[in-house]
Amino acid sequence: MPVDFIAAELTAIRNQGLYRELRQVDGPQEPSILLDGREVLNFSSNNYLGLANHPNLQTAAAEALERYGCGSGASRLISGNMTLHLELEERIAKLKGTESALVFNSGFQANVGILSTLLGEGDMIFSDALNHASIIDGCRLSRAKVVVYPHCNLDHLEAALKKAPQKARKLIVTETVFSMDGDIAPMQEIVELAERHGAVIMVDEAHATGVFGPNGAGVLAEMGLRDRVLIQMGTLGKALGGFGAFVAGKRNLRELLINRCRSFIFTTALPPVLMAMGIAAVDLLEQEPERRFTLWRNSQRLKNELKDLGFSLGESSSQILPLIIGDSEVCMQFSKSLLAKGIFAQGIRPPTVQPGTARLRITTMATHTDEHVRQAIQAFKEVKEENEPRL
Ligand SMILES: *Cc1c(COP(=O)(O)O)cnc(C)c1O
Repeated sequence: MPVDFIAAELTAIRNQGLYRELRQVDGPQEPSILLDGREVLNFSSNNYLGLANHPNLQTAAAEALERYGCGSGASRLISGNMTLHLELEERIAKLKGTESALVFNSGFQANVGILSTLLGEGDMIFSDALNHASIIDGCRLSRAKVVVYPHCNLDHLEAALKKAPQKARKLIVTETVFSMDGDIAPMQEIVELAERHGAVIMVDEAHATGVFGPNGAGVLAEMGLRDRVLIQMGTLGKALGGFGAFVAGKRNLRELLINRCRSFIFTTALPPVLMAMGIAAVDLLEQEPERRFTLWRNSQRLKNELKDLGFSLGESSSQILPLIIGDSEVCMQFSKSLLAKGIFAQGIRPPTVQPGTARLRITTMATHTDEHVRQAIQAFKEVKEENEPRL
């Protein structure tokens, strides 16, 4: 081979302290996991409600397997649209209070597909600087003009909206709960700006679905803004404990996506087992509301105690607690020291977050016990004492 650019690129990644490796988790997703063969407490999962190993999801999956088999065999538009896909869509629409919903194979595919379907050349997208990679890629793929506004900065957003050509199609896209910072977008203000300047809104509720709002319907539901937002996207793989994603909105939005959205059309439909898990999870949001309350209590406690230890946790007002370190290597070292004490809190580095803002992204779950939380706090305390004054 003339030039080994793969090895060269890997060396560059290592030299920047940004090298990533996969870890191996054995057994089901519980608060305590076997990570690379060692038992540790997991504070790095999006399985917020602990549904990923819930008996109801297991039973629903087993029954669907028995009745509908394994694969869907084709895309939704050919012969893969099975009863359970439609049933789950009805349940999601009901949860979200929208006319309709459409299941996507993943949140990544949903974001890329929705944005590139609804916008094109000559249109404008206004995108928060901390939006997820899949939103960024959707913006790029759409070929619309993209204005990235500083994180939650309404003045910038308004100025950009004012400058936009009158006749351009305009869409504001934002996460409600931000995935790496745990803060919440000022949706009331964003909705008002959009209405004043003739823009529509798309929200990504990946980290809010199942956690915020009545029955876990999300931040928009909690704020009473659902009717003023065109596109509500959410996922089934995080708090809902399974896999897949959805968009909820008007019936004609669903129709247009079925007709035009490439990441919906040109992919095999999800297996019915996953749809059954989704339905069981939506049921549980209603049946076991205490999971949300326990999650909330665990997050509050961990947040308060980490603050008392002198850690900076940004602007989080959710179950996602970003313990900002700054330097990538110090961050990864911190994560390693915690792991040695049996606490798994993953370090997050650029490009997932902006340069100089490496952090531990700490997440709680409804299934963490008081003792789990206490053990975590103890580990943070010890690592801090051992590393003073660096931390
Ligand atoms: C996880 C995530 C996605 C992608 O969802 P998947 O179903 O995991 O592909 C999209 N947006 C945000 C904000 C996310 O955190």
